[in-house]
Amino acid sequence: MIQVVEPATAEVMAELPRAGVEETDAAVARAKAAFPAWRAVSPGDRAGRLRDLADALDSRREDLARTEARNAGKPIGDARAEMEMVVDTFRYYAGAPERLLGDTIPVAGGVDMTFREPLGVVGLIVPWNFPLVIASWKLAPALAAGNTVVLKPAELTPLTAVEFEKIAVAAGIPDGAVNVVPGPGSVCGQRLVEHPDVAKVAFTGSTEVGRRIAESAAGTIKRVTLELGGKSANVVFADADLEEAAAAAPLAVFGNAGQDCCARSRILVERSALDRFMERLEETVEGLKVGDPLDESSEMGPLISEDQRSTVSAYVDGEAPVAIRGSAPEGPGFWFPPTVLCPVGNDDRAAREEIFGPVAVVIPFRDEEEALRLANDTIYGLSGSIWTRDGAKAMRAARAMETGVISINSNTSVRVTTPFGGFKQSGVGRELGPHALDHYTEVKNVFVAT
Ligand code: NAD
Repeated sequence: MIQVVEPATAEVMAELPRAGVEETDAAVARAKAAFPAWRAVSPGDRAGRLRDLADALDSRREDLARTEARNAGKPIGDARAEMEMVVDTFRYYAGAPERLLGDTIPVAGGVDMTFREPLGVVGLIVPWNFPLVIASWKLAPALAAGNTVVLKPAELTPLTAVEFEKIAVAAGIPDGAVNVVPGPGSVCGQRLVEHPDVAKVAFTGSTEVGRRIAESAAGTIKRVTLELGGKSANVVFADADLEEAAAAAPLAVFGNAGQDCCARSRILVERSALDRFMERLEETVEGLKVGDPLDESSEMGPLISEDQRSTVSAYVDGEAPVAIRGSAPEGPGFWFPPTVLCPVGNDDRAAREEIFGPVAVVIPFRDEEEALRLANDTIYGLSGSIWTRDGAKAMRAARAMETGVISINSNTSVRVTTPFGGFKQSGVGRELGPHALDHYTEVKNVFVAT
């Protein structure tokens, strides 16, 4: 059995059967059997069923949010916003079945056209930090394009995925089109990656596991998209609205207790503005309310597990230059206070590795050239921010930064309608927006001699 632990109390909140290779194979077989019928559902009908699924999820939003808040240890307000995004993601991709357009291409001797064909069975492997919302970024475009799916949630947070399967079937998605296998990554995940009947794997998780998946996928030349880790830069120039930049910076790294691939965990600040920025940052960090995820006023919850807490603690040892430290509850639960290290060099371990906890580093820089060099001096390239009142500088920096998503005078990364994904070792492929559909279809070219 999987014992599902509530991170705020360290107590078991649910138990469910743990899937293994046999259950994974059975799920793939069900998905394979369901594929011909699901791809043959007319575009309008498939769109209608996805809209019905969005409505069904909408009616369950509050209880799914409460389950997610408890299981992942995230503030209830954040969990509600995530469930809203789940619903919006299905609504958005419900528009796709009727808009999977092809091209006609001028050729000699006939007519040439392209089709976007579904791939078949798609394996979806997701992490524990944003369990259902990240699953929905994969489920919705995969199903809209006519694929059937096997979803493997993280073992720590399987509850909303298991619930999702039931909601999908009740909403009219045919039996076998959606299958959920809660089990270990090294067993069920690995099996999906190697299975000859799985056409593609869409993975979100660590760069380390992503690398292993890319290697294993080579055996069957499996299509793979990878959404991996990050160490994103939040670049604050001295001419920015410092009040706003400093007020926004903490939640951009401490949101979800720092367990966010988009966390702007390297805060790069122009040296001439450093003191003013740190003063304001301190006020905001110290004011952050860390507490019970179900308390409406909580802004940050606990870490996901004791293991995660010890990993994060290792970055704040006796030597670390702790400049600001917020508060966290005592007692049971995997709590860790929001922490800012300053000054830190970009070569320090805390600046190079993805900590995946509420620890930010502040790195001073001299000028635009140095800021961009430091921002790009990382193996990652997922997201980032630029704060300045100089429009031309903002655009220069945005084009120069080697990262998949960037915000100017904002720390947002993710929207249902816009592409999301990483440069460099942050991944391969894009989710959300119109681009996701490219990764759940193959282009077929057809020539007709006239
Ligand atoms: P993880 O890589 O340990 O696990 C992710 C998923 O992969 C889990 O379901 C796990 O069971 C499975 N898995 C583990 N080993 C596997 C294997 N050998 N074969 C197949 N599947 C396997 O990641 P995590 O600790 O759950 O999540 C944290 C990581 O996820 C961070 O690095 C974070 O940056 C990343 N992340 C990235 C994004 C993004 O969109 N780029 C979003 C969220 C999280």
